Amino acid sequence: MNKEIPVKRIAIFGSTGSIGTQALDVIAANTDKFSAEVLTAQNNDELLIRQALQFNPNVVVIGDEKKYNRVKEALASTDIKVFAGEKALEEVASMDCYDLMLAAIVGYAGLKPTLNAIYAGKAIALANKETLVVAGDIIMQKAVEHRVPIIPVDSEHSAIFQCLVGETRNRIDKIILTASGGPFIGRKPNYLVNVKREHALQHPNWSMGAKITIDSATLMNKGLEMIEAKWLFNLQPEQIQVVIHPQSIIHSMVQFEDGSIKAQMGLPDMKLPIQYAMAFPKRIPNDFPRYDFKKVSTLTFEEPDLKTFRNLALAQDALAKGGNLPCIMNAANEIAVFAFLRNRINFLDMTEVIEKTMQHLPFIEKPTLEEYFESDGEARNFAADIIKL
Ligand code: NAD
Ligand code: MG
Repeated sequence: MNKEIPVKRIAIFGSTGSIGTQALDVIAANTDKFSAEVLTAQNNDELLIRQALQFNPNVVVIGDEKKYNRVKEALASTDIKVFAGEKALEEVASMDCYDLMLAAIVGYAGLKPTLNAIYAGKAIALANKETLVVAGDIIMQKAVEHRVPIIPVDSEHSAIFQCLVGETRNRIDKIILTASGGPFIGRKPNYLVNVKREHALQHPNWSMGAKITIDSATLMNKGLEMIEAKWLFNLQPEQIQVVIHPQSIIHSMVQFEDGSIKAQMGLPDMKLPIQYAMAFPKRIPNDFPRYDFKKVSTLTFEEPDLKTFRNLALAQDALAKGGNLPCIMNAANEIAVFAFLRNRINFLDMTEVIEKTMQHLPFIEKPTLEEYFESDGEARNFAADIIKL
């Protein structure tokens, strides 16, 4: 007999972003399996309103409080609850109206809502890698305490997660994170010093939000992902290797003790890892384009150029030293990327800002949550001072 599976109620934190909108596409194609119960946006009230009218969630949150009235009025004829501001975002994360949070806010701003969702016992589909970079030890410990699964959405981590299904008792020798290399692969500093934001925003394989696109161009994204992997899969720094794979067909690999390597492959399309995380442990059918060996027949691999893309070297340093250093690095990076996107500093200056901030702030080996918050704030101030923001 076929048992009815109840609809999974999803909260999309960051529903107007690249990940958020793709998650809503997945929900729209599978209304028998998923419903959208919470939608949140920082600024884009128009899109949030349209999404709310289409998906009829229980709650929406608009980050920018000045836009509360507009959203409230537009949804007046519905029974959708409307809230505004940062505190509301944190409170809504604890509400009963949903089962799984898709953490798709960009940057440090995603940390507190995600933590509250864990405290409330919600399953987490995690796109927001910065949460684990900032406070991975505390997040993973709280997830264990509250028996909350954290299912990765980041394509590399989804790949590793998929490779590990059925391997719980087997030791991992190492993981191999693949990186496209971004738009500036093979370039040297004399070229990079002159690149403009428009060029850096052109990613060859993935269409993503602005911050992660710049992180991909500097390779900081891969550094953040090394730290994310450490916490998700409980690895030592030396078990995490990065390889440049410009075609982005292999999304990452796991090597086991016997030398066997498992890889997960597919076209670069975030809908797949989003859908996998939402439907886990089931796979569900879809009509996404399929990888065709005849169209992309050559898969290549090379070493990352750590001398040119120094952000990756800085992240490896933060990964090795641990403590509050990844948190400091993340904060400085958010400020540096923000400044680059506003044409305030050049491409290579971003590395300088991050490095100086990492060198300047006091190291704390085992920070409390409060100390992570403080390190984040202090690092932001220091980085902004360097740039004179
Ligand atoms: P995006 O910029 O397209 O969207 C970000 C979302 O977060 C928007 O809905 C925005 O309103 C909201 N937001 C922004 N600042 C906020 C704040 N201060 N408070 C509350 N909400 C805020 O970003 P994205 O590309 O969708 O990325 C989201 C997260 O997923 C990032 O952490 C990124 O690293 C990760 N990720 C993205 C991709 C991708 O393909 N886009 C792939 C892997 C991982
Ligand atoms: Mg990724």
